[in-house]
Amino acid sequence: MPLTPEQQDEIDALRSQTRPTLRAVSEGMEAHLYRAHEVLDHGFIRVIDYMGDDAAICQAARVSYGRGTKSVQNDEGLIRYLMRHWHSTPFEMCEIKLHVKLPVFVARQWIRHRTANVNEYSARYSILDREFYIPQPDQLNAQSTVNNQGRGALLEGAEAERVLEILKSDSTRAYDNYESMISDEGQDGLARELARMNLPANIYTQWYWKVDLHNLFHFLRLRADSHAQYEIRVYADAICKVVADWVPAAYGAFEDYRLGGATLSGRALDCLRKMLAGEEVTQETSGMSKGEWREFMGVVGTPPNPPPKCPIKDWAAPEPPPRGGRFTPTPRFGRGAPERANRIIPRPGDSA
Ligand SMILES: Cc1cc2nc3c(=O)[nH]c(=O)nc-3n(C[C@H](O)[C@H](O)[C@H](O)COP(=O)(O)OP(=O)(O)OC[C@H]3O[C@@H](n4cnc5c(N)ncnc54)[C@H](O)[C@@H]3O)c2cc1C
Repeated sequence: MPLTPEQQDEIDALRSQTRPTLRAVSEGMEAHLYRAHEVLDHGFIRVIDYMGDDAAICQAARVSYGRGTKSVQNDEGLIRYLMRHWHSTPFEMCEIKLHVKLPVFVARQWIRHRTANVNEYSARYSILDREFYIPQPDQLNAQSTVNNQGRGALLEGAEAERVLEILKSDSTRAYDNYESMISDEGQDGLARELARMNLPANIYTQWYWKVDLHNLFHFLRLRADSHAQYEIRVYADAICKVVADWVPAAYGAFEDYRLGGATLSGRALDCLRKMLAGEEVTQETSGMSKGEWREFMGVVGTPPNPPPKCPIKDWAAPEPPPRGGRFTPTPRFGRGAPERANRIIPRPGDSA
């Protein structure tokens, strides 16, 4: 369980207090405030505070004296224009502060995003809980044979059991030794800051993480993507759900232009124009490398294999597509494109 009954009581107490405010309030976000949304086996994300809403973005863009809004349609159009033209500073006027509980190896990827403010639980001062991430059987994959930075086929049977057993027993043994080293019953014990060094990277840590909406979108663009590791991606997907309720117009624009859109190089655009004109273009005539061509065909062509239902697996590194081909007019991006395979991941008990 990610929360103890005492922690849940604290959250309930906070949620029971309300007060009037002159500040911008997002009704969608109010529903999320303080609540823990479970992620992985012991983790969660929780909104601690936020600033701004869709209107605040328009207010800043128009440098307005008042709310800065015109009509909902007008505001949505402005937000889409800002997103389309990379006019990013109005999005920085909105901020979110999250409490995140996550495995240390996920935190190592997350902390690479430098444009946030972070305060982490101190394992020098406090004793870490006995909580380790153990993957579900459907996330126990072998190394991918086509992508050095990804997963391949699912482990099954005795091999899956063997690996799970190692993960569990190593975690248990490491924590038992941690406890025994810092024990103060009849022995001096080792300082907490030293005793923690033998703990594995699947132990959970926690932090407060504050970021503005522009940089949050950058984080989500990279981490809610099919190329991101599953264990950070489920956090990004959970945050996407929250942001969609907080700033629906901005999230809609982000989903359309960034998550659902694609960037094409000059060469790729040339090829696309030729294809639209009915010319046959192959990897050899495209001027693109095999990797570029594969990614280009992933954007404009019919993928060789349909995206798998599970958002991770090998969609990050599909089998090489046919070497050439005419343009098929099925939209692969923007409006009318098939729903992306890596959108919100339903969790057990999710109604959505
Ligand atoms: C799929 C994937 C695989 C990855 N693999 C690896 C890997 O193998 N090894 C590895 O080390 N990392 C890896 N990373 C991490 C990656 O290289 C980035 O460090 C991480 O995604 C953070 O991106 P960022 O720097 O754009 O974000 P932020 O730190 O949030 O920065 C946002 C933007 O601010 C600007 N900025 C911030 N700080 C500076 C600065 N000091 N100087 C100049 N501009 C700055 C840049 O424009 C930057 O894009 C991987 C990331 C992904 C998504």
